[in-house]
Amino acid sequence: MAAFVMRFPSFVNGALRRGALAMTPWRRGALCDTWAMATENAYREARLGSARLSEAAGRVLTALEAAGFEAWIVGGWVRDALLGAWPGDVDVATSAPWQESEAALVAAGLRVRETGAAHGTVTAILHHEGVETTTYRVDGPYADGRHPSCVAFVGSVELDLARRDFTVNAMAWHPARGLFDPFGGLADLEARLIRAVGDPGERFEEDGLRVLRAVRFAARLGFEIEGGTQDAVRELAPLLARVSSERIGTELRGILMAGRGGWPLREEREAMFAAIPELAPMEGFAQHSRYHSMDVLSHVCRVMDYVEVYTGGVASEELRWCALLHDIGKPFTLQIDEAGQGHFYGHPAKGMEMADAIMRRLALPHALRERTVALVRLHDRPVQPTRASVLSILADLDELCPGEAPRLVRELMVIKRADAMAKAPAYRDYALEVDELDAMACRLLAAGEPYRVRDLEISGTDLLERTGRKAGPWLGEVLRRLLREAMAGAIPNERGALGRRGAAIARDLMA
Ligand code: ATP
Ligand code: MG
Repeated sequence: MAAFVMRFPSFVNGALRRGALAMTPWRRGALCDTWAMATENAYREARLGSARLSEAAGRVLTALEAAGFEAWIVGGWVRDALLGAWPGDVDVATSAPWQESEAALVAAGLRVRETGAAHGTVTAILHHEGVETTTYRVDGPYADGRHPSCVAFVGSVELDLARRDFTVNAMAWHPARGLFDPFGGLADLEARLIRAVGDPGERFEEDGLRVLRAVRFAARLGFEIEGGTQDAVRELAPLLARVSSERIGTELRGILMAGRGGWPLREEREAMFAAIPELAPMEGFAQHSRYHSMDVLSHVCRVMDYVEVYTGGVASEELRWCALLHDIGKPFTLQIDEAGQGHFYGHPAKGMEMADAIMRRLALPHALRERTVALVRLHDRPVQPTRASVLSILADLDELCPGEAPRLVRELMVIKRADAMAKAPAYRDYALEVDELDAMACRLLAAGEPYRVRDLEISGTDLLERTGRKAGPWLGEVLRRLLREAMAGAIPNERGALGRRGAAIARDLMA
């Protein structure tokens, strides 16, 4: 507690020195400083209080303390509550060994799951909310830069906070005792900085994933990475090679879902390249094309920005992955013609293959990978503002991701618009044409126009009856041809017409 009492005012004084609270003249002077300090303290405590600790978390604290142990809320909840953001999961750190935590929680009527006994974690569950409760611990040596070879349980929350990655993640809070902030996390929150706890180099050497976590928190919170920590992020990004792809995948998802567009690729290139080495060849890769005024990587950054612009910052995850990976095949497909113009024939197919391999390696969810890969494959497919052309892109999307074309076609249009806006100025008008394509896709979908066999107003059974033949592979072929003709507008999607035409196609096939 002593540390809390001493640290809190020292932050406020620090903030005053930095001018954070000294913007208005009436705040100058000792009396005003004291007043400002008290106000700030009250304000922060109110913010923590108003974040309304869940009933489950309150019960966990009470249960552990009733059994004679110390317990604190730690980590992300404290950070987010102080920011006035809606805090997520609650983590509790306690002096109780996990067996005794479990006993105390069960005695207090809470359901308990042993989620990570080896790391001292049990999860208390109440009203479907899980509260992870972990014994104060420090990590043993990280022999492989991935995980500690062992953990050691310790007696003080300060030691537990010291093993955490960044100062803003290394604060503890208790509804009665207030904030415990031994590493200046609050000052860094105020200054909007991600700073490693302790020596950044040593901390990243212990666990290379922290390089990417620094980028994720900076992206999500809109913070800067503090100078020394930033230097270490750049220098030690290659440590990510030692980290499991799955953990990298999880952090990358967080980075993309922060919705900062091209920021990570522009500003934290080393970390992003270490996480996905296939991104690196795009840097400085000249396109030798009148359509492009930027190298591939700068173009990709811009597409990522525009995806956020066109979706109001709420782009789906597949759209963000597609923006990142859509041109990943370009450096491998450049051909320069006699006139000196660069062409990237086949880059969407190459990109699709590479995106698929990358997303598999990162162990990303199957559905996310399928959607992303479909968008990468089709991002450059020419579409005309005609019924047939738009229905055909819907059919292609449906083939790659069955049942998802209505949603994916809207996303494809976003990528196409963003792609156009990231070209040379003379070629950006295409974005306006895409508006027309998008509206047309919506109209066709709303009208139930056919782009799948099942949209035809005739079934296989109808055709069997009409032709009097036995089922066989011919049936699928007839239905596919009927669909092609209906999409092209050569025949109406109407039962009688489809039946007559179907019988004629069947006769031709059998002849
Ligand atoms: P989020 O809202 O994204 O979950 P969080 O702060 O809860 O944010 P987690 O990844 O859930 O982040 O981790 C919980 C806490 O555990 C962190 O706040 C941090 O204190 C600590 N932590 C997690 N991973 C590491 C790591 N690799 N190295 C050091 N500390 C870590
Ligand atoms: Mg968390």
